[in-house]
Amino acid sequence: MKCPFCGSENDKVVDSRESKEGASIRRRRECLKCEKRFTTYERIDEIPYMVVKKDGRREKFERQKVLSGVLRACEKRPISMGRMEQIVNEVEQFVVDSPERERTATEIGELIMDRLKHIDKVAYIRFASVYRDFQDVSEFHSELERLNNKDEKHKPAKSKITTR
Ligand SMILES: [Zn+2]
Repeated sequence: MKCPFCGSENDKVVDSRESKEGASIRRRRECLKCEKRFTTYERIDEIPYMVVKKDGRREKFERQKVLSGVLRACEKRPISMGRMEQIVNEVEQFVVDSPERERTATEIGELIMDRLKHIDKVAYIRFASVYRDFQDVSEFHSELERLNNKDEKHKPAKSKITTR
């Protein structure tokens, strides 16, 4: 989308919502060059974007569904609504960018997990447990273990205390 202020074509969507009638999408965009914000209205395409489920069935992509999944995972966690919405925006962008007009549920799930992993470990685990459908408790624990080990690596080495 061309920025009305500087003409740059690089922007990011900061907010996106359907009109009451569901016929258009209002998008709040921010120009990556001059950082000014502007609004665009897009008519919703008659051909929907689809999500390919694991069993091969296709279902219409719905922003609201992504949001509810993220909300559920982030319940009572210190994550702002804005941050959650940003994840949803990224997912939507990912789906809309698809030349085939569809993405697999797996790709979408992985994207959400990747974002949550960097924001909040609990939210990530919650989302992953629903999404990956952990078969048993041990599988769940090994995922936790894996996460914790990763964290260890990033911690600075303990400073040695020397006493005389
Ligand atoms: Zn601009």
